[in-house]
Amino acid sequence: MADQPNIVFIMADDHAAKAISSYGGGINQTPNIDRLAKEGMRFDHCYVTNSICTPSRAAILTGTYNHVNKVFTLDTYLDNRLPNVAKHLQTGGYQTAIVGKWHLGEGKDHEPTGFDFWSVLPGQGEYFDPLMIEMGIEIEVPGYATDVITDKSINWLEQRDKTKPFFLMCHHKAPHREWEPHPKNRKLFQEDVKIPDSFDDDYKNRANAASQARMRIKDDLKYADLGLVQPEGGSEVGQRIMLRSTLRKIPNPEDVTMLRLIDKDTGEVFKFNTNDELSTFKYQRYLKRYLRTVESIDESVGRILDYLDENKLAENTIVIYTSDQGFFLGEHGWFDKRFMYEESFKMPFLVRYPQEIQPGLICKNMACNVDFAPTFLDFAGLPIPNYMQGNSLRPLLKDTVPEDWPEVAYHRYWMHRDPNHNAYSHYGIRNQRYKLIYWYNEDYGLPGTNKGGEEREWELFDCQTDPLELFSVFYDPLYKEVVEMMKTKLEKKMIEICDVPEHTINPKI
Ligand code: CA
Repeated sequence: MADQPNIVFIMADDHAAKAISSYGGGINQTPNIDRLAKEGMRFDHCYVTNSICTPSRAAILTGTYNHVNKVFTLDTYLDNRLPNVAKHLQTGGYQTAIVGKWHLGEGKDHEPTGFDFWSVLPGQGEYFDPLMIEMGIEIEVPGYATDVITDKSINWLEQRDKTKPFFLMCHHKAPHREWEPHPKNRKLFQEDVKIPDSFDDDYKNRANAASQARMRIKDDLKYADLGLVQPEGGSEVGQRIMLRSTLRKIPNPEDVTMLRLIDKDTGEVFKFNTNDELSTFKYQRYLKRYLRTVESIDESVGRILDYLDENKLAENTIVIYTSDQGFFLGEHGWFDKRFMYEESFKMPFLVRYPQEIQPGLICKNMACNVDFAPTFLDFAGLPIPNYMQGNSLRPLLKDTVPEDWPEVAYHRYWMHRDPNHNAYSHYGIRNQRYKLIYWYNEDYGLPGTNKGGEEREWELFDCQTDPLELFSVFYDPLYKEVVEMMKTKLEKKMIEICDVPEHTINPKI
């Protein structure tokens, strides 16, 4: 099939839409990623089905929700005997490759399948001289991860069989924790970054989950996150991030004047007069490190787009930029993801394909990561297997909306046993106006985890009047009918995707 388009799927790890300038965050400039928005379509309501790395990647590859593909947490890996979109494209005539972050497990049961070429980072991967597993062989590749992944992607494009269409998944490690920038970018962002309006959130008027999460910039960042020296010592230098870890959190002591923080790179010593000063220091250092790693990704996207231009491939290639989920950049005082609150729930999603997508379009309809695989197959002219639960985004990309297009996006998170983040399990839906969340922690019968149902709570947000999600209106009599309406929609969605209200899974963590 000569007219099958090529597909380049570029995915970053933890890249919040706010840190892409075409989304209007106003905190950085990403001119190369923005090209996809200018020359294609920007999605404003693309959502992740489970806001964490491994499950999102499984949903993308298989086109199924996590209760179906059984990849619930960071430690439940993909069974690589399952069908996936790369296998379908491969048998449909495509050459397929994946380079970079995989995070769906290693070894014969979990390594990539369906790819003619694969070169992936084991686990979370490293920023410098990354170890990679290339077609089953471990290698160490000198250089900065973002550059290494880009070089390998372009090399594969260069060496491919040019008579066949291609499907390339270019998966960056950046801007994942611990946000280590390329040395040439260490001095970027000398000006302070704007602090979000909800940074000092007191977590009132909401479910307990928000106040109990251990993802606070003020209290939960570790030394390594901010490129700081972790001093020798015990609890006096900071709490362990979790049992058995040697990594410790930067303290937020009552007498902050005694604290000395040392830059790992320059040896500079930082001192503080007030706790507010320390919090601001942590926020600025976090954001700047994060944005510096984004800078390299933007450069990488530019290199790939240039390659397509130079080789006259731009017309017949669908180029997508996304992230495996969103990320908190200080909103609610947090870093990290996991929650269904907007900043971590929303995925950036930009698509360029000159043959079908008009430049500069913005899509406001609901989309989710389970839709990606059916979209690829639709464009490839291949059948969409009925085990896939998403919908092809192709009509939306052509600026039309099918009458029966899903009105809600669904989210479910299970990894509440991770003591490092203490993010409660939950599920819920959002439509254009409202977001309904049900918080629960399963009873595992383990000491200290048996909450006996005490933690079950609901939240409803009116995303129009409260876009920052600071006031749950679930118990507000004015919203009684909305609550009933959204509960009905939630129930309907769960029936549609075959999920059940509460079920005990057995994740390893
Ligand atoms: Ca991620």
